[in-house]
Amino acid sequence: MHRRQFIQASGSCSAYVFGLAAFAPLMTRRVFAAQDDSNVVATELWGRLEKIQDGVWALISTPFAKPNPDGSPPDNPFGDYTTVCNGGIIAGDKGVLVVEAFMQDAGARWMSDRAKQLTGKRPTDVVCTHYHRDHTAGHAGFAVDKNRPNIWLTDATQKAAETSMLESGSVDAKFTQVKRLNSANPTEIDLGNRKVKVMPRSGHTSSDVTIELVDPKVIWCGDLFFNGMFPNYSDAIPSNLNDYASELANTKDTTFVPGHGPVAGLDAVQSYQKFLAFVQDSTTDAFKAGKPAEEAAKEFKLPDKLKEWFIWNPDVVKRGYVAWYRELEADKKDKRN
Ligand SMILES: [Zn+2]
Repeated sequence: MHRRQFIQASGSCSAYVFGLAAFAPLMTRRVFAAQDDSNVVATELWGRLEKIQDGVWALISTPFAKPNPDGSPPDNPFGDYTTVCNGGIIAGDKGVLVVEAFMQDAGARWMSDRAKQLTGKRPTDVVCTHYHRDHTAGHAGFAVDKNRPNIWLTDATQKAAETSMLESGSVDAKFTQVKRLNSANPTEIDLGNRKVKVMPRSGHTSSDVTIELVDPKVIWCGDLFFNGMFPNYSDAIPSNLNDYASELANTKDTTFVPGHGPVAGLDAVQSYQKFLAFVQDSTTDAFKAGKPAEEAAKEFKLPDKLKEWFIWNPDVVKRGYVAWYRELEADKKDKRN
């Protein structure tokens, strides 16, 4: 990654700080390992495509820098940001949908090529779960020959993503062929023999969506779910995030594709719920004690039962405190008025 792209990435949850995982290679391997290698249909340095069922695949991105085989520090300390976020391919007999538009055009192009290879069709539809750059900035890569998929976005996602891409000097700051996702009610995308439900949510940002299939039961959670990693709270509404995690933790017999980290089952979602509750307790205690967020974040420590959770950069902890303080401060004001 060039220095300029590196700086551009830093504003969003794609964050340059993924590179810091170079200092935790063992942790990185654990957090990003495939549960079952036999499901993997394609592997690149920056990610792998896993088959969930016929016509349904999950892309698991592995943007962290990898150490050399001899264990020495990686040649490129910033990792590979071709895709950064997770995604997926859902095929029906009339259309093929790709989840997310990824960090770089090359990532979107790669997914378009995989869709063609696996289903015989280039994507007809793309859904972005929220506006962060690692989920949107690669959208132009889906334009291959004469193929231009519909790009499904909420109004808020389109506005924020285009502003952010424009500010970072992207030559493709405007989406083409946009289809509007309803931000109050579910939107159904018809792929023929498969219907995809897009649910409006909030918590990671003020305008998130999840992508849900009934057969098989799969939910692409976007960044409402970071599996095994401290979530990025930079634009979060933390109590909404907790509410959604509770909802997921009661959703049985489902495969969960997080925004970052490996494919998950119910146990991982329940662990996430506990992790978020611990963050809430820690931040609320510090807030009540009148400790400044930044200072309190430095003292944050995971209890033994949550030790496995990966803090990929000290900054993500600080962002968690800042987000909770923002909400707690607003609650206090509400009560006063
Ligand atoms: Zn995000």
